[in-house]
Amino acid sequence: MPLVSMRQLLDEASKGGYGVGAFNVNNMEQIQAIMEAARETRSPVIIQASRGARSYSQDKFLYHLMLAAAELYPEIPLVMHLDHGNSVETCKSAIDLGFTSVMMDGSLMPDGKTPSTFDYNVHATKEVVALAHAKGVTVEGEIGVLGGIEDGHGAGGTGLEHVTDPDQAVEFVEKTGLDALAIAIGTSHGAYKFSKKPDGSVLKMDVLIKIHQRLPKTHLVMHGSSSVPKDLQDVINQYGGKLKPTWGVPVEEIQLGIRNGVRKINVDTDNRLAITGAIRKVFVETPEKFDPRDYLKPAREAMKKVVAQRMTQFGQAGHAGDYQPIPLAQVAGQYN
Ligand SMILES: [Zn+2]
Repeated sequence: MPLVSMRQLLDEASKGGYGVGAFNVNNMEQIQAIMEAARETRSPVIIQASRGARSYSQDKFLYHLMLAAAELYPEIPLVMHLDHGNSVETCKSAIDLGFTSVMMDGSLMPDGKTPSTFDYNVHATKEVVALAHAKGVTVEGEIGVLGGIEDGHGAGGTGLEHVTDPDQAVEFVEKTGLDALAIAIGTSHGAYKFSKKPDGSVLKMDVLIKIHQRLPKTHLVMHGSSSVPKDLQDVINQYGGKLKPTWGVPVEEIQLGIRNGVRKINVDTDNRLAITGAIRKVFVETPEKFDPRDYLKPAREAMKKVVAQRMTQFGQAGHAGDYQPIPLAQVAGQYN
């Protein structure tokens, strides 16, 4: 199956009332972990690369790994998505390379740090929508500003400083014509999201529900949505790691989101934790080993387990065979 437009995946998810996990990758083992989890659970899947991932891997390597994934797992609808494009140029370079979906994060200026104005965001996102839709490529935009920093991208802070205003969200969607909307409801990137199990004072599910009521046809995206489970933290600390106690977004809150228009859920930290815990375990228990496969194999297996679990929890499991991919050229025609 060729790489698919994210719009098609999210439209199908909306019809079926489920969410689709979007998992970040930097290398081959992570892509393999996700594809194996998708095959096991029969899930459509979004694989995403940030700017940091593109420069770490030289993105041509990632692109060809994705083509290999599409070839080796022909039964899985697969999207290649750019996470947090910081400028029109970055999005354009991803589209030119063959990404089937891009995020234009115009909530920040191109430096990836400074919160932008509403007008700048509309302007930049609209420009990317025109470029992308002409080729059938999907666009995710962001309104409001997320907390934390990941891969050098982010405004920092707790995530409560720039919670999305529902009126602005409506105006933004109308003015830009985007496909999917990331909103800020108190979540942050990275492992340190909340200092206790989050309640309504720090995780604004009520704002999300309000936005969905105003924009029932817009696919909503939850960023910074790793659950940071304690068992994954414990493995790392048990084998010499030094994570401070932390809380992520509980799966039941994500499921509440899915019942209220959330179709894409970004998960990165949980996979990083699983990989690191598995590698630490091998190093501590068998320090005589030095073949990278001895620790990369269990690392890949640990990530696959987390991804398969999320696919089941988000409801995408079992839906890989529901539909045939629409060629991007035909998708482009549908935007006119
Ligand atoms: Zn994000």
